[in-house]
Amino acid sequence: MDATFGTGMGAVRSIASEVASALARAERACAARGVRLTANRRDVLALLLAERGRPVPAYTLLDRLRASHPGAVPPTVYRALDFLMAQGLVHKIELLNAYVGCADGAFHDHHPAQFLICRGCGGVTEVEDDGVAAALDLAARECGFTPAHATVEIEGTCGTCASARP
Ligand SMILES: [Zn+2]
Ligand SMILES: [Zn+2]
Repeated sequence: MDATFGTGMGAVRSIASEVASALARAERACAARGVRLTANRRDVLALLLAERGRPVPAYTLLDRLRASHPGAVPPTVYRALDFLMAQGLVHKIELLNAYVGCADGAFHDHHPAQFLICRGCGGVTEVEDDGVAAALDLAARECGFTPAHATVEIEGTCGTCASARP
């Protein structure tokens, strides 16, 4: 049932129904935590989920949000993004200064994640490898460093782009 965004697996399910089910999960996760997925937050999340792993800059989100919220201003989007990131529903890809919806259907807050960023198509695939997270944690602790949160961004070529090359 968990939707995997951005992997190009050719899922037959429509994007709209994937987004609808992911939004429903997000609403349940927020309700369980006692926080509110307001209309702004929900619509920003829906815009990102519909992109299925394609990172979207904040100003593009603002332009699109104005279709349903004509009064939206930059702080509207940034506040919504801050909330969504704190809830683990959205991640920021620092390398691209853009945002993606979390591909993990469980929506853990602040979970460690690794992102594979394709230089060819710009697609981002989220991986949650506990082994990678544990290795990074250990490496940091061996330096006497206490890690709080680790996000790894890896640049390269996705499988689709690699196989499209002659
Ligand atoms: Zn995630
Ligand atoms: Zn690619």
